[in-house]
Amino acid sequence: MGLDVNLKDISKSSQDHEFFTPFPAGYKKGRTKYLVIFGTVISGLGKGIVSSSLGLLLQTHGIEVAPIKFDGYLNQDAGTLNPYRHGEVFVLDDGTECDMDLGTYERFLDRNLSHYNYLTGGKVFQKVLSKERKGGYLGRDVQFIPHVTGEIKHFLRELAVRENPDIVAVEVGGTVGDIENMYFIEAIRQLMYEEGKENICFVALTYILEPKFLGEQKSKAAQLGIRSLLSLGIQPDIIACRAQNPVTDKIKEKISLYSNVPLDKVISVHDLDSIYLVPELLKKEGVDNNIINLLALNSDHKKQRLMFNRWTKFVNKLKTPKKSVTIGITGKYTALRDSYASILKALEHAGAEHNCSIQIKWIETSNIETEQDAKKCLRSTQGIIVPGGFGKRGTEGKIRCIEYVRKNKIPFLGICYGMQMAVIEFARNMCGIQDANSTEIEPKCKAPVIDVLPEQKKIEGLGGTMRLGGKNILLKKGTQVHSLYEQDTIRERFRHRYEVNPEYIDLLENKGLVFSGKAPKVEIMQTLELPGHPYFIGTQYHPEYTSRPLKPNPLFIGLVKASLEYASK
Ligand code: GLN
Repeated sequence: MGLDVNLKDISKSSQDHEFFTPFPAGYKKGRTKYLVIFGTVISGLGKGIVSSSLGLLLQTHGIEVAPIKFDGYLNQDAGTLNPYRHGEVFVLDDGTECDMDLGTYERFLDRNLSHYNYLTGGKVFQKVLSKERKGGYLGRDVQFIPHVTGEIKHFLRELAVRENPDIVAVEVGGTVGDIENMYFIEAIRQLMYEEGKENICFVALTYILEPKFLGEQKSKAAQLGIRSLLSLGIQPDIIACRAQNPVTDKIKEKISLYSNVPLDKVISVHDLDSIYLVPELLKKEGVDNNIINLLALNSDHKKQRLMFNRWTKFVNKLKTPKKSVTIGITGKYTALRDSYASILKALEHAGAEHNCSIQIKWIETSNIETEQDAKKCLRSTQGIIVPGGFGKRGTEGKIRCIEYVRKNKIPFLGICYGMQMAVIEFARNMCGIQDANSTEIEPKCKAPVIDVLPEQKKIEGLGGTMRLGGKNILLKKGTQVHSLYEQDTIRERFRHRYEVNPEYIDLLENKGLVFSGKAPKVEIMQTLELPGHPYFIGTQYHPEYTSRPLKPNPLFIGLVKASLEYASK
């Protein structure tokens, strides 16, 4: 099955025919299959989590999966998005600033992704518009169909060539029916026609309402959502029903009846305590085997048991914690938990490692003015994280909190802005530099212990302009950070414009602060610590981005351990 046209004929736009399907060099039709996940009814159903869980399950069968997320907005990447509105900006090793779902993929699949795994409407249109200026469409009027859809199919196939996986797993951002993803869904419909239905599997996520005043589940909204997808020419193979409670047989039957999907492929994905429990649930419903059968893939059964066992071990530790600690997180975006998604996940991973559940206490720092205020806010916490951030709001309160935890030997992890605040605190209170500050907060300050990176002075405009992505860091032997990582060189991810001003380093070190991690060639301080304090660590990078369930980041493991010890005193 599939498109029966000589591929060369349709790879270029032409006056002679209506097709435009450019194939990347080396593309072999049928080698890579496609799995596409759509969301219906409402956004925020956890499509990224279901997609990642499916990816993980397929991976455990020995099937190689390359995920790609499509976001309909016209931003080229997530660099300029406000985390308050959109959730955390996740940073990939190659410096791509992207949607937080890519973080979910990296954590579930335990692999690094790149800009090839992230597509936005902005990226698609930038390509189309700049190609048009160069005469790339050979005199044709440039249209959504076939040109925009053709470029989208090219992006997907490019990923297939680049990673040579068994499956490209496409997550379609937004909800079916949005204008923003309409053309993308059309591209998928064409992809199905060209690749052959046997090479593409569609999963539709839907939502089962359960209004309190009725006390029972209702399927109408789901039916309408699926119907919109059908009207776009997409017949789902599997329907995953998100719901608060397990979906009843009656509802499953209704959905099956209205959508031509066999009953065994209508599954319940109800709310669970942790996203890491979703793979088990999907496995119980047999979704992995259904996809494998639909796409005629082979499962490596031996490997499957082995790999899934590792995952189950982690999940079991998560389910049966033996202890508990409370970690405080200070921050500007305390109203929206999604802004700190990776930190929360990293704590969850480290907690499981210690068989410990983590309670989070959010600390709004704008009202903290005195030591007494800090004491009050930190009363019931056994450790704190001062996370990344931008701008002035709440910074003095954060500095007060850091002073309090430094003096009282409460475990502390300062991430990026948090490390910079720790330097300001130390300069003011231990080195006697009263005016110490960051030029981000006070551009004309007399003692800029934190200053803009030299390379950043020349840059204009926002979006992709910070010091971004994975970089190597040399760790000093004999330091706490070195013993936590047990490595001389590590690789972590950055997203910043400011740094510790090299002019103040000697002064700070003379008073006892240790810069334990440095960039290999330039004088940029990457980590700091305070000997004599049980756990006082700052990092210019974001350790949360590289933490994985089966490989928690050492700094979070260290923080949880120190907090448990503090709690037992
Ligand atoms: N605003 C600080 C900087 O640009 C910290 C950034 C961050 O925390 N990610 O250096």
